[in-house]
Amino acid sequence: MSNLPAPLRKSLTDEFSILGLALADLQESSDGTAKFLFELTDKNLVEAVNIPAARRITGCISSQVGCKFGCNFCASALGGFKRNLTRGEILDEVLYLKNNLKAGQLTHIVFMGTGEPLDNYENVLSAIRLINSPLAFNIGARRITISTCGIIPGIKRLQEEGLQIELSISLHAAVDKTRSQIMPVNKKYPLEALIKCCHEYIEQTNRQITFEYILIKGFNSDVLSAEKLVTLLKDLKLAKVNLIPANPIAELKIFPPTEREILLFKDKLFNSGINVTLRKERGQDIDAACGQLRLRHG
Ligand code: SAH
Repeated sequence: MSNLPAPLRKSLTDEFSILGLALADLQESSDGTAKFLFELTDKNLVEAVNIPAARRITGCISSQVGCKFGCNFCASALGGFKRNLTRGEILDEVLYLKNNLKAGQLTHIVFMGTGEPLDNYENVLSAIRLINSPLAFNIGARRITISTCGIIPGIKRLQEEGLQIELSISLHAAVDKTRSQIMPVNKKYPLEALIKCCHEYIEQTNRQITFEYILIKGFNSDVLSAEKLVTLLKDLKLAKVNLIPANPIAELKIFPPTEREILLFKDKLFNSGINVTLRKERGQDIDAACGQLRLRHG
């Protein structure tokens, strides 16, 4: 637009960008779950998902292109890490999800797509403030969830923010040896230090932490593993366990246990006084587990 003064054009170029996600693929499940694969302006791919439920619609978004943390049950790590998403790109995912609902309103946002949100701290927190702002998406802080593989410095930083957002920690095993086998990050931030950090977080924020626990057949789903989990968490004041039957990923030889085993595990926690829920599997007929759709386009 050469009719604009040169200094204005320069400051527009320097300070603003026109984003816009291009849809590279879309998979829709019969249960209403819709998974979008987006192409960014530099051709990198990220995923986001709309998950409608009875009284809520959750948007699940990515925070990074790929992931550095290499959890061996997760398809997101397979292509390695490329880069952080900018604040604008994260907000663009939310906007796209909001504009592409079949019906209803986007009520919740979870950072459970590709990437580790606490490894892209500034951009994620800055995006969250706008997702929360009445001037932008106006989604309540308590309806925004950060999910982390357990980055202790990030959790410590988060507890100082004074935000009412939800924190989920991907635990998946209650002893170091087992957890390190599937989550290399556990070598850097082992369980004792992680749980100590959780105590401090709860003390300071008075907010509950949800521990995500994927049940993987033949690995962490027996009753002894449930007992170990009870021991690890029993002293935490505000904690909840969310059990997730593993989403099968043939490439990684990951499969869920039998329904009987899942229920035994859940009962063991419940009977030991642990607040426990079993996540309903959604999008089972599409590639809805982290990184799966992007993997197909690898
Ligand atoms: N890096 C963050 C957020 C992304 S993963 C984290 O680790 O929490 C979001 C959730 O999906 C995590 O709990 C992750 O462990 C889980 N997930 C990854 N692969 C999965 C699979 N195959 N089946 C079920 N859940 C999976």
